[in-house]
Amino acid sequence: MLDTKVKVSDNSEIVRIFKAACKSIKNRPIDIHAISHDASHYLLTPKLIAVPSNINEVSSLLAAATKTKMPVTFRSGGTSLSGQAVTDGLLIDTRSSFRKIVTKDVGQSISVEPGSTVRAVNSRLLRFGRILGPDPASEIACTIGGVIANNSSGITCGIHANSYKLFLL
Ligand SMILES: Cc1cc2nc3c(=O)[nH]c(=O)nc-3n(C[C@H](O)[C@H](O)[C@H](O)COP(=O)(O)OP(=O)(O)OC[C@H]3O[C@@H](n4cnc5c(N)ncnc54)[C@H](O)[C@@H]3O)c2cc1C
Repeated sequence: MLDTKVKVSDNSEIVRIFKAACKSIKNRPIDIHAISHDASHYLLTPKLIAVPSNINEVSSLLAAATKTKMPVTFRSGGTSLSGQAVTDGLLIDTRSSFRKIVTKDVGQSISVEPGSTVRAVNSRLLRFGRILGPDPASEIACTIGGVIANNSSGITCGIHANSYKLFLL
């Protein structure tokens, strides 16, 4: 159970709470500084990095963040150009896990976890002669989670086949 009385200034207590929520919590300076920037010119140093391996850990992390009033940012490929994937709070890495891809109905639909890169998804669709709508130039590194959150586009998809059109309409 999470402790409801949390002194936010007490860093070791904060770490303990987040470690109870997720097995992989990193707070060594080398880990934190390695991930403190995305592809933009912004630099924010996260207090903690969490690398959840399943949805239960994500859920527990969000509950812990709410209790400790810790701001949360998800980070996946980290290719954002305007600082979308940086924070001075808790950075949740959804790139290391969450990479499952399952094609269905002879490639007519595909079920994709958010850490899968656009390239990995298109590689699976290739045998069916199909391709995702959004075609960002960063497709080798950017992931479905980041593509949807950023409404990514590309040189050929324009706005008729961008992320909002493809995934949300
Ligand atoms: C060389 C280069 C070329 C690029 N070309 C294009 C282009 O042609 N078109 C284009 O639109 N953009 C382009 N971009 C920008 C960028 O690559 C895209 O916006 C990309 O979709 C970001 O994906 P990402 O996985 O790197 O996300 P990140 O940068 O890691 O995150 C992006 C946003 O998504 C959120 N997020 C990530 N994962 C999740 C999740 N699982 N759940 C909820 N939220 C999540 C983050 O919090 C953040 O707000 C380019 C960038 C570079 C560096």
